[in-house]
Amino acid sequence: MSTPAAPWAQTCPLCGQDNRCAVAQGLPAPQCWCMQARIDPAALEALAPQERGQRCLCAACGRPTAGAAQGDKHPDFQDN
Ligand SMILES: [Zn+2]
Repeated sequence: MSTPAAPWAQTCPLCGQDNRCAVAQGLPAPQCWCMQARIDPAALEALAPQERGQRCLCAACGRPTAGAAQGDKHPDFQDN
């Protein structure tokens, strides 16, 4: 017996809006919009660790903000 995803799985963890996640709707993951979209790494990092990979962001929150998408290094990140 398959249980539908928990209601919270269908909402964006950042803004609480419908994340339109296919997985949360019982559809195969490849059908989720997020498989085609670039998700802003900064948005993912804003999630609690236990929510990463569990909840989809909504399209609005996952969309990289202008200027942040082109591989700019975040000033807080210094790889040394
Ligand atoms: Zn959102």
